[in-house]
Order: sequence, then C-alpha cells, then structure tokens
Amino acid sequence: MTNPEKNNPGLLSSLLGGITGGGIQVVDLTMTLDQKSPTIVLPPELGQSWPFRMEEISRYDHRGPAIYWNNISCGEHTGTHFDAPIHWISGKDLPNNATDTIPPEMFIAQACVIDCSADAAEDPDYLLTIEQVEAWEEKHGRVPPRSWLLMRTDWSLKSNPVDYLNLDAAGAHTPGPHEDLVPWLIDERDVIGFGGEAVGTDAGQAQHFNLPYPCHHLMHGRGRFGLPALTNLDKLPPSGSLLITPPLKIRQGSGSPVRVLALVEPQA
Ligand code: MN
Repeated sequence: MTNPEKNNPGLLSSLLGGITGGGIQVVDLTMTLDQKSPTIVLPPELGQSWPFRMEEISRYDHRGPAIYWNNISCGEHTGTHFDAPIHWISGKDLPNNATDTIPPEMFIAQACVIDCSADAAEDPDYLLTIEQVEAWEEKHGRVPPRSWLLMRTDWSLKSNPVDYLNLDAAGAHTPGPHEDLVPWLIDERDVIGFGGEAVGTDAGQAQHFNLPYPCHHLMHGRGRFGLPALTNLDKLPPSGSLLITPPLKIRQGSGSPVRVLALVEPQA
C-alpha cells in the first residue's frame, strides 16, 4: 500500500499542517449563544422569532448521575446564523435553496472585509456604498467571484442587547448595505453572499428603502446567502481569509445558527 502522505504531501495535508503548525490561524467569527443573545424584532404585525432558551436535563444529579446535557430552543435566525435563499419570497422557487439542499461546497468560500467601523461609530444608520467598495478594491484588488462581502462595523462589540438592537419608535438603527450596492455586488462581482455584525444583513431602516430589505430580496432571489451577527471581523485581513459556514441540515430550513470559522494566513 502506498502512503500518500509520504509520497505526496497533498493539499489537505498542507492545510492541516498549516493549522496544527500555527501557520494558519483559525478565527472564530461566532457570537456565544445564551439567553441574553439578541433576537431580531420585526414590526409588531408580523410573526416573531423565539429567543434562545436552554433548560438543563440533568447535571450529574438524580436526573442523570453521569450526564450533563440541555434542551435548547430558538428561531432559525438566532445569534450568528446562516440565511438560505428560501428565507425570502424572492428565493422561494430556486433549486437547492434550503439548508438541507444547498450544495455543501457552498459553505466554504473566501472573504473580503470592508472596514466601516469609523463610519458606523459616527452614524448607526450608516450604509456601505459602491464607491466605498471600489475604494477598497483600489488597495486590495477586485472582489473575486464567489466571495463573501463582509461589512466590519464593530457593532458586535455592543454587549448590551438594547444598544445592539438599537430600536426606537422608527424601528432599528443599525448599519448595512446601501440599496444600490446589493445588485452591484451580485451582477458586477458575483459574490456568494453578504455578512455583517448587526442582527440582520439589511440595515435597520431597510424596510423604508425603495426596495425594502434589498439584501434579503436580491441576494436570496439570486441564490446568494447571508451571514448576520458575525463578530471578530477586526481580526480578519481585508482579503484572503477562508470562511467555513455550514448551517444545520434542517429539512427545508430557512437558516440556522452556525459556527463561522475563518482560516487566516499570516500577512506577508
Ligand atoms: Mn436571518
């Protein structure tokens, strides 16, 4: 029998060597799920998501002397999560549009990170524009096809759920993509999806745009994905990191909480 590792290091062996040898850093882009995890709030006439709940089944006690485990419940769109195309009416008839039918290779893709942290600190309703992405491209190169476009805002550093959701009588005030940017990212850059740090991929005020919720409507209508409530985007390079984002395989699932990992190479 031949030993492939001996004869040929192989791509996977190189990758694993990089991870175990420390050359490749694994960055966790996931918020910790607990009862305080902020849950998206929709206009009151619409249905609402369950918050995350956890109830102990046993903890090495009379209910199970050797066993610690919990029951959990939550909406599909809780904490750091994956939005599948079937989540929006525009994507409802696409093939392979749900968490159980999206081809698994789609859960591995590179990321481009646009730093909007200073803009979002100044204006919670800040919208990422085409011009800003083009300015990023001047420095870091063109957004490659099949990339995630990630909007860094440092919004995930708001540890108080009230500040994080930032609701008032007019709705939520959180940053997101400009309505002109979303079709441009799909048609001109062929992105795999859009991610950010706030509770949804669309801006908090996106229900008032000419096309309401453009990131949901257009991305999902064109078979693209969403990754809201990311964190640690400040630990990623502007380009070149690799994201691993598999949602739970819920039959006809519209999304699920996901542990998002980024593989990062040391910068030259
Ligand atoms: Mn969602």
